Amino acid sequence: MQHQSDEHRAAVSTKLMSWDSSLPKALVVACSDGRIHAAIELFIQNDLHIDRYDRMYVPGGAGALAPSGAEFARAHQHHRECRFLIEAHELDTVVLLFHGPSSDGPSDALCGDYCRKFPGASGTEIRRAQDQDLHDVLRLGTWREMRIVVARYEVTKDGDVRFITLHDSAEHNDDT
Ligand SMILES: [Zn+2]
Repeated sequence: MQHQSDEHRAAVSTKLMSWDSSLPKALVVACSDGRIHAAIELFIQNDLHIDRYDRMYVPGGAGALAPSGAEFARAHQHHRECRFLIEAHELDTVVLLFHGPSSDGPSDALCGDYCRKFPGASGTEIRRAQDQDLHDVLRLGTWREMRIVVARYEVTKDGDVRFITLHDSAEHNDDT
C-alpha cells in the first residue's frame, strides 16, 4: 500500500518551473471574483509593466480597505495584512482595483461585495460608493512613500472589458 501511495505522489509531482526567490516589488489588491482575473493580469503586465506581484484578493477589492462605513473592523484587518506585505517585502508599488459595469454596462457585472454592502443599490449608487471608498483609501498613510495606482475594471454594454485609471501617483502627486 505504501509503495502505491508513493508512486501516486510521484506522478503528480511534475516540475513546472524553477523557484525564483526574489521578492516582487508590487502588491495588487483586487476583488476575489474569478471572472475578472484574466484581464487584470493583462492590465498589470501590459499597461503597468509589472511582471511579478504579491496579491491580496478579497471580496470588494480595494473597497475592502476603505476605513469608513459600517465595516470598520474588516477594513482595518485587511489594511493590516496589506501593511504586513508592504513591510515584509519592502514593496514600492501598490495597485488598487475596483470593478463593476460601466455606466451603461450589464448589472451582472456589479461587484457582489458592494451588492452585499448596499442591498438594492443601483449601479450608479455603487459607483458613487466606490468613488468614496477610493477617496478614503487614498488617504491612508500606508502608501505615502509608494507609487499607488488605482483603476476600475469596467464591463461595457457590449461586453468589452476596459480599465479606467483613476489615480497614479507617478503622474500626479496630489491627494485625490
Ligand atoms: Zn467584486
